[in-house]
Amino acid sequence: MKKLVLASGNAGKLREFGQLLAPFDFEVLPQSAFKVPEADEPHVTFVENAIAKARHAAHLTGLPALADDSGLCVTALDGAPGVFSARYGGEPKSDERNNARLLTELAGVADRRAHYVAVLVLMRSAYDPQPLIAQGEWHGEIIDTPRGAGGFGYDPYFLVPGTGMTAAELPHEEKNRCSHRGKALAQLIECLRGGT
Ligand code: IMP
Repeated sequence: MKKLVLASGNAGKLREFGQLLAPFDFEVLPQSAFKVPEADEPHVTFVENAIAKARHAAHLTGLPALADDSGLCVTALDGAPGVFSARYGGEPKSDERNNARLLTELAGVADRRAHYVAVLVLMRSAYDPQPLIAQGEWHGEIIDTPRGAGGFGYDPYFLVPGTGMTAAELPHEEKNRCSHRGKALAQLIECLRGGT
């Protein structure tokens, strides 16, 4: 099997990517196994940050690397919090403060449209001129009163159209199927199948 470094320390992502990429002969290893420190994410677009993280891991390990970057984009806020989603409420990062700020910014705003974005980058080497890039979006709207105990982050405030449920109320498998990350992963797998 070919080794692939995951530019993340998240155990859930490691398990998920590991299972999905095993049929493509990839053994997914966490960057912590190679003592790779977290990369900076200085950019204002998801794709640039994902590329920076994948390149950092590939550079320090000499192996192919996979990175993801994700967040929430609110239409009435010109796409904010965007790449700043994890720390929208300030440091240290807190879902509670992030959601409090989101509701403050949207107070009195009628347009509640928002979408999650996930970008995945698979780089064969740090100098790969043509990394695989996959992107998924999940559209919904922001409500004022939280509902549901599943998911994480902004999920209790993210109403999924056609379901009457927030992302935090959707069953786990259902969220994985229709979420931004699920769609990006499906697209990446499509790229791998097509050999592009
Ligand atoms: P990361 O790419 O995993 O670091 O996620 C960035 C931030 O975006 C998270 O800390 C959350 O605030 C937000 N986010 C990304 N995906 C989701 C999701 O599926 N549900 C809720 N919040 C999310």
